[in-house]
Amino acid sequence: MRRKRQEDLVRELNRIDGRGYKAYRDIEGEYDFSGFTLYIDHAQSDPYAPPSRMRVRVPQEIATFPEDTYHNKSRNVALCDYLARCFHRQIPPLEKGIPLCKRGIEGIQGDLDSDRGGTGKSGLISIDKGGQEILERTAVFVNSEFVEARFVVGLPARGRRVLGRQTQRILCQDISKIVELSLRFGNLDSQKLYQHIELAEDQNALRNLLDKIGLVAFIADGSILPRATGIHDTPLKSENVVPFQSPPSLRKKISLPNRGVISGMGIPRGVTLIVGGGYHGKSTVLRAIERGVYNHIPGDGREFAITVADAVKIRSEDGRRVEKVDISPFINNLPQEKDTRNFSTDDASGSTSQAANIIEALEVGAKLLLFDEDTSATNFMIRDQRMQKLVAKAKEPITPFIDKVKPLYTDYGVSSILVIGGSGDYFDVADTVIMMDEFVPRNVTTEAKKIAAKHETKRRYEGGENFGEIKPRIPLADSFDPSRGRREVKISPKGLHSILFGTHNIDLSYIEQLVDSSQTRAIGEAILYAKRKYMDGKRTLSEILSLVQQDIVKNGLDILSYRPVGDRALPRRYELAAAINRLRTLEVFLQIRAKICV
Ligand code: ADP
Ligand code: MG
Repeated sequence: MRRKRQEDLVRELNRIDGRGYKAYRDIEGEYDFSGFTLYIDHAQSDPYAPPSRMRVRVPQEIATFPEDTYHNKSRNVALCDYLARCFHRQIPPLEKGIPLCKRGIEGIQGDLDSDRGGTGKSGLISIDKGGQEILERTAVFVNSEFVEARFVVGLPARGRRVLGRQTQRILCQDISKIVELSLRFGNLDSQKLYQHIELAEDQNALRNLLDKIGLVAFIADGSILPRATGIHDTPLKSENVVPFQSPPSLRKKISLPNRGVISGMGIPRGVTLIVGGGYHGKSTVLRAIERGVYNHIPGDGREFAITVADAVKIRSEDGRRVEKVDISPFINNLPQEKDTRNFSTDDASGSTSQAANIIEALEVGAKLLLFDEDTSATNFMIRDQRMQKLVAKAKEPITPFIDKVKPLYTDYGVSSILVIGGSGDYFDVADTVIMMDEFVPRNVTTEAKKIAAKHETKRRYEGGENFGEIKPRIPLADSFDPSRGRREVKISPKGLHSILFGTHNIDLSYIEQLVDSSQTRAIGEAILYAKRKYMDGKRTLSEILSLVQQDIVKNGLDILSYRPVGDRALPRRYELAAAINRLRTLEVFLQIRAKICV
């Protein structure tokens, strides 16, 4: 069959102009345009339905991206990220002069009354350009043969009639122009482009270096950590912002492949406290450390606030479900003899949820745990001398984290960073104490140790000799049912924090290191992929996650979807595990070593 060309698309659009909306189905297919190929993968069936999925592919002979812009993984991911942002920037404003992005329409999910074309999502052009992070995503692909961008278009309608001429303008003029201006190396600001990819490469290099130099996190001098508002992730722009300055005794100089030498505060392995008065910037520092598992775009302020990849934020999350987790390192002797080596509940308390969150993170490989007093259960964190006297150990199921934080490091090499403004008892177990003083960190380890020696807490250590065993769990495939009504598979992610998996909602509200709703979409699909491919009743959750990750590394995120989609971003294994653990139907097999009786 002859390959279809732009003229064929124009002819088709003229033919269906004024017909019922479903006639748009006829334009699905592949068209040779000058300089690129347009793929109309899926035409929406209704002006109010999710917009139509399309791709453009520009051969490298025309795109001419130099090999060094994508020759390693870091650069490739960063280049794709950069191009998605360029594509987004070139989307022309709507007829009445208000660009979509300025009208509060985020991503491609929003519904709108557009004036580019008419009813429903008419006239929308959107690409998944991401936020402050540079994530591996499916919006743009680059290899030595071509550059591909995936986007959606709201096909124009008046009422429910095809507006063929408007569509012609969008597909033949607007898209061509966007492609020309954003997907050809020669038309881009190469200095900015290289700055973007070299930065991401440096961020990865720094993250990989941390472990080798005994650090778990690094925050460069001059970093801007506070965010614009509680709901905006852009840097706080105000003359009162205090740029980050490392205390001299924690300052490290690190040499990066592109940037050269940078200096900043290194947080060593072990147990680190962040102390200081209320409102002095403790949580802000911790939040930057949490987000330091991701790379950030130039100008973010956190470009060189970098944390080891296996860092997991831990918080209490009462009400969550827990499925057969051995929380006995922390909780024992619950009322009514509930077994904590095999603990399940449909409604966890603050402390049991926090214990389960820790064990689940360790189960899948966490190497650094992050705590903020603001979101921790007090009775889980500390039990002081007076309380020990009043409530006997036998009557208190909880072994507080203060008694387990050291064994966790000595037994498993897992470090902790804790924001603790309210309890000096932690001085005894800390290796490093950082005090935030009007947003400036000071190393007060020596002072804290002196105070600890002078004012003994006299509390009894309750943690036992070891942390305790972390037992792998085996998820059972049958407990994951993606069906809804007549549909065998229906997985509907809703925004950042929830996934309707079959008929069950997975609540991710407290998964603080989930940063992009495209990650959430990928998680929904990854659960199904894991169930179908790897849950065989023998593999542990951790093994399954590793296999899924390996497949993604090898074949890209596309393996999760059965069709090309442009709005998926790579989740970490910890957030994927968190979603699985929060599926209320989850069933696992937990191997409990039988006690040998002689
Ligand atoms: P804490 O946890 O110690 O109570 P927060 O980290 O919540 O304090 O910070 C309190 C306020 O100060 C927040 O509104 C935050 O945006 C702001 N802030 C944090 N760090 C800085 C900084 N370096 N410069 C200016 N303002 C900051
Ligand atoms: Mg705080």
